[in-house]
Amino acid sequence: MKLVRYGKAGHEKPAVLLENKLIDVSNVAGDIDGNFLESGGLEKVRAFIEAGEFDAKEWSEDSHLAAPINRVSKIVCVGLNYAKHAEESGMEVPSEPVLFFKATTAIVGPYDEVVIPKGSEKTDWEVELAVVIGKKASYVSKESAMDYVAGYMVHNDISERAFQLEKGGQWVKGKSCDTFAPLGPYLVTKDEVADPHNLDLWLKLNGETMQSSNTSDLIFDIPTLVSYISEYMTLLPGDIISTGTPFGVGLGLNPPMYLKPGDVMELGIDGLGVSKQSVVAFEDASNR
Ligand code: ZN
Repeated sequence: MKLVRYGKAGHEKPAVLLENKLIDVSNVAGDIDGNFLESGGLEKVRAFIEAGEFDAKEWSEDSHLAAPINRVSKIVCVGLNYAKHAEESGMEVPSEPVLFFKATTAIVGPYDEVVIPKGSEKTDWEVELAVVIGKKASYVSKESAMDYVAGYMVHNDISERAFQLEKGGQWVKGKSCDTFAPLGPYLVTKDEVADPHNLDLWLKLNGETMQSSNTSDLIFDIPTLVSYISEYMTLLPGDIISTGTPFGVGLGLNPPMYLKPGDVMELGIDGLGVSKQSVVAFEDASNR
């Protein structure tokens, strides 16, 4: 299933996207969040769809989409998880997963604007496969790790490189600004993705391909990441693990190139849809 949250900001409704039609599932799902995943929401929605007693409405580009999951307790990001990206960043390929947090207040919808933060000169893009946790995970083995995965989404791990790398301390400062986590368009349930380790992922900036890779190049695969992270913290339903970005970010170009107002990013992953964000200046966003 492809789950979305659509409608006016702050009043989004849960829906299933089926053959380009939106099926409202608010009767069986209050919202798509950790509680929904934990309480068997997916099964209820699946049964509702299979029963076929619903009105479907045409999907259109202006059906405003929010991030497909609400009330995320944490976003755990994995750094340098593609060898060529580690190289372009001038860093060693890690021997253990590099982890950092991204504030959940950074989450926006798949077609929302990305705001260049105040004082930023180095805002950058990163297409990533995001994994959504379906049930509480603490000290889970690699062998059972996939039982804890609910599904997958496209994530643009927007990053401010000066905040991240030049201001000391942890990467979190360069990863957490408002609008720095466009998610979606949809949450695709695990059963619909035959092999999450063989998905093309790409990002275009103003129509030009900047990133083009495949999740088969991940250094640490999804079971390894779920198991590893669960040794250091409890993962809750609805939590997101962003698995790292491949080669082709602005930081790695010679000379480096960063986002400016008016730029348009389009990014996608096989089977997980395409998202698109316009870039706006902080001053313009805050004057509205
Ligand atoms: Zn990243």
